[in-house]
Amino acid sequence: MTEQPEQFELQATRYREETLKRSDRLMDYFLACYGLTGLALAFYYNTWSVALGVGGGALVVYYAVKALMSGSNLYQYVLSAVFGIFTALFIYQMHGLVEMYFFAFIGSAMLITYQKWELQIPLLVVMSIHYAVLAYLNNTGHSLYTARPGQFTAQTFVIHIFLTMTIFFVCGLWAYQLKRFQEKLIRQTILMGELKQEAQLSQERLQKKQALQQLNEELTLRAKELARSNAELEQFAYVASHDLQEPLRMVTSFLTQFKRKYYDVVDEKGKNYLRFAMDGSQHMKQIIHDLLEYSRVGRIEDKMEPVALNEVVNDITNIYRKEIQEKKVIIHCEDLPEINAPKGAIRQVFQNLIGNGIKYQKPENVAEINISCREIVGHYEFSVKDNGIGIRPEYFEQIFIVFKRLNTKTQYPGTGMGLAITKKIVENLGGTIYVESVMGKGSVFRFTIPKMTSGGDA
Ligand code: ADP
Repeated sequence: MTEQPEQFELQATRYREETLKRSDRLMDYFLACYGLTGLALAFYYNTWSVALGVGGGALVVYYAVKALMSGSNLYQYVLSAVFGIFTALFIYQMHGLVEMYFFAFIGSAMLITYQKWELQIPLLVVMSIHYAVLAYLNNTGHSLYTARPGQFTAQTFVIHIFLTMTIFFVCGLWAYQLKRFQEKLIRQTILMGELKQEAQLSQERLQKKQALQQLNEELTLRAKELARSNAELEQFAYVASHDLQEPLRMVTSFLTQFKRKYYDVVDEKGKNYLRFAMDGSQHMKQIIHDLLEYSRVGRIEDKMEPVALNEVVNDITNIYRKEIQEKKVIIHCEDLPEINAPKGAIRQVFQNLIGNGIKYQKPENVAEINISCREIVGHYEFSVKDNGIGIRPEYFEQIFIVFKRLNTKTQYPGTGMGLAITKKIVENLGGTIYVESVMGKGSVFRFTIPKMTSGGDA
C-alpha cells in the first residue's frame, strides 16, 4: 500500500490550520496575561510609563501586523520579538537580571505551539540586542539593576548569550520534533484509513465471491435440470414421431386404396376432400420425418470423417438439379476446405440452407446462391447467400425455432423444421449460426465450425 502525496498534503494542511488556530487563540490569552503582569508590576514598582508605552506599544504592533497582513505568517515573528520586548520590560520593571531566564524560557516555550523552530530567532535577536545594550551601558559608567559599573564583562555577556541560546535551541528542537511527530501521526492516520478501507474491500470481495459461488452452483443445478428436461423432451419427440408413423402409414395407405377404388365414383366435392386429405397426410408425413430428424441430432453419434465440402455442395446441386435447370438457378461455390465432421449432418446443413435459398425467391427472380468460407480464429465461417425475398430483422432469431414459418404453405411449402435442425447440428459441433438479411434483396446465413472439432488444418 503506498501513501498518496496529495492525500498527505491535504491532511497536513488541515492539521496545520487547526494548530495555527489553536495557537493563535492561546497567544491571545497569553498576551493578555503578559499585559496584565506589566500593569501589576507597574503598580508595584511604579513603572507606569514603560508598562503602558513599551508593553502597550508592543501589543498594538502585534495586533496591527496580524490584522493588516492576515495572509502572512509575519505576525508570528513579530510575536516572538514581542516576547523578547516583554522580557526586557519585566527585567526593567523588576530591576533584576535573574528573572530574565524565567521570562525568556516562558516566551520561548510558548512559541513551541506553532511547531516552527525559526520562530525562536526574533526572540534570540531581541534578547541579544538587549544584552548588548545592557553591557554597553554598564561599561560606560551606568549602574544597572544589581550590577555595578564595569561588572558586565565580555565573558559575562558571552555566558548570558550562551545560556539564553541554549533555552532557544532546546525549545526550537521541541518545536521541530513536534512538527515531525505530527507528520508521522498524519501518515499513520492515512495508513490506518487505507488499511481499514482495504479490509472493507476484501470483506466485500469475499462476500461477492461467496455470492458468485452460490450463483454458480444454482446455475449448474439449473443447467443440469434443463439438460434433463431437454433430454426428456427429445425422447418424447422421438417416441411420439416414431409411433405416429404407423397410424399415418395406415391412413395414407387407406386413402390411396380409396382413391384407387372410388375416385371415379365420388363427385367433384368428394374428389376435393380426398385431395385435401392426401395433401394433409403427405404434409404430416414430412413433419414427422423432420421431427424425427430433429430429435436424432446429437442422439445418434455420427462418425467423424474427412468431408470434402465442395463434393458435398456438388451432391446437393445434383439433388436440386431439376429445379435448378427449370428456374435457371445460378450457384457459385468458392473453394471450400475439407473438414473432419459427421458427413450426413454437414450435408444436411448445406442442403437446408441452399434449398431455402432456391425456395424463398420471388417467382420472376433468377435465383443466385453464393457459398463461401473464411477462416477466423480457431473456426471456419461458412456463408450461404441468396438474392431471395429476405427476412424482417425481428424474425432473425425466431426462424431458428421449431415450426416457425414466415410464409403460408401454399406460398412456399415446408414444415418450419429445416433451420431448427440446422442450428441444432451446428451448435452440437460447437459452432454458431445467424442470419443477416434485407427485405426484398436477399439473406446471408453464416455459421461457424470449430477447426479443432472439425480436425481441419488447425
Ligand atoms: P421451412 O423452409 O420448412 O419453412 P425453415 O426452418 O427452413 O423451414 O425456415 C423457417 C422460415 O424461415 C421459413 O418458413 C421462411 O419463412 C424463413 N426462411 C428460411 N430461409 C429463408 C431464406 N433463405 N430467405 C427468406 N426466408 C427464409
